[in-house]
Amino acid sequence: MTTALLVLDLDHFREINDTLGHDHGDDLLRRATGRLHALRRRSDMVTRLGSDDFAVLLFPADAAVADDMARRLGDAFLSPFEIAGFSLEVGIKIGIALFPEHGQSVPQLLQHADVALSLAKQTVEGRAIYDALRDPSSAHRLALMADLRAAINQDRVIAHFQPKVSVPTGEITGVEALVRWSHTERGFVPPDEFVFVAEKTGLINPLTLHMLDRSMAQCYDWRLRGLNIPVAVNLSFRGLLDQSLIDKIRNLLAGQAMEPGMPELEITESTLMEDPVRTLDVLTALSDMGIRMCIDDFGTGYSSLAYLRKLPVSAIKIDRSFAIDMTHNDDSAMIVRSTIDLAHNLGLRVIAEGVESQAALDRLERHGCDEAQGFFIGYPMPAETLVDWIHAGLWKTSSPQ
Ligand code: C2E
Ligand code: CA
Ligand code: CA
Repeated sequence: MTTALLVLDLDHFREINDTLGHDHGDDLLRRATGRLHALRRRSDMVTRLGSDDFAVLLFPADAAVADDMARRLGDAFLSPFEIAGFSLEVGIKIGIALFPEHGQSVPQLLQHADVALSLAKQTVEGRAIYDALRDPSSAHRLALMADLRAAINQDRVIAHFQPKVSVPTGEITGVEALVRWSHTERGFVPPDEFVFVAEKTGLINPLTLHMLDRSMAQCYDWRLRGLNIPVAVNLSFRGLLDQSLIDKIRNLLAGQAMEPGMPELEITESTLMEDPVRTLDVLTALSDMGIRMCIDDFGTGYSSLAYLRKLPVSAIKIDRSFAIDMTHNDDSAMIVRSTIDLAHNLGLRVIAEGVESQAALDRLERHGCDEAQGFFIGYPMPAETLVDWIHAGLWKTSSPQ
């Protein structure tokens, strides 16, 4: 019978323990254990693995049961704990591994639930099920990375380009380069499946440099054909921990045959806070090279706009989930509206992605959003198709400067 192992980790436990003292830390652990026990079914087991790590064994349970229980456990930690006269908000993150699917022994299940836990820490929901493709040590993943390396070297990893337009004028303002990889046996592999893995295996920088190189070459080609299309390239911040990347980017840009206009780089918000000091250094070095930067997926991380003001960035891109939801969810609409206002007050341009309808575009216009990107405007497409799309004339072009 299938069983699920959930590994749980309390947010901020170490800070609370250090600040309020061990007695209060222990008190928090006791109460957390109480909340876990309150939801447990009779056949389930709750145990403490050490420090603030807990395990819950669900028996019987399939993926759906485990995910539902993880959601309910997460909800049970939404209300604050009253400790030492403080009302403390302490969330939990939950990693899930299933028996026998993800492991046949307790050590293997624990290890895989731990991998899932580190994935959970990168999600808004705070829970994740083990995925061999995202496990740094899985054989499957290592094989995929070897194939990716070969594909980059053989130029089989290509860029598609998704247009962005000015909301008030309908003019095409540029494109975002999105990586596309067609695996010789597996067919199309979505970027979400391999970018994350590449980040963990040192392949991310060869990928970033390849995308920058291809995008710059494409920009040059368009320029020769009378089209001025600035390209934005996604930059994985994790790759920037490698000191040599900045020099490689500098060399790559210096080697361009003609000045095609500097690329814009999109950096995901959630990775910026991992190392704020290094972030500032690296972004300053890139900005000194004349590169404009944009914070991607804004709203999914925890950075405040006040922190962003210290960074040399010129724009934010509101995460696509908000624009997708905004026409039928008032909360999302309000977040979009207030983010636009705050960003403008800080002198930042705002781009909304995930624009899937005229209604969403109209609403963004009312809120004063600067640029929009999404399936309603244009899908990511090969360079040639983009030229046809531009010539179809649904959106205005600007002439080359
Ligand atoms: P992202 O940077 O947020 O890219 C936008 C994603 O939203 C793209 O997914 C795009 O196809 C999708 N999208 C665009 N418009 C809409 C819309 O109206 N509705 C919906 N539902 N989706 C829309 P894609 O190409 O699958 O890329 C996924 C993620 O993979 C990207 O998210 C980015 O984080 C990463 N990625 C893609 N290319 C690269 C790359 O060259 N380098 C790095 N480091 N990451 C990349
Ligand atoms: Ca992006
Ligand atoms: Ca994005």
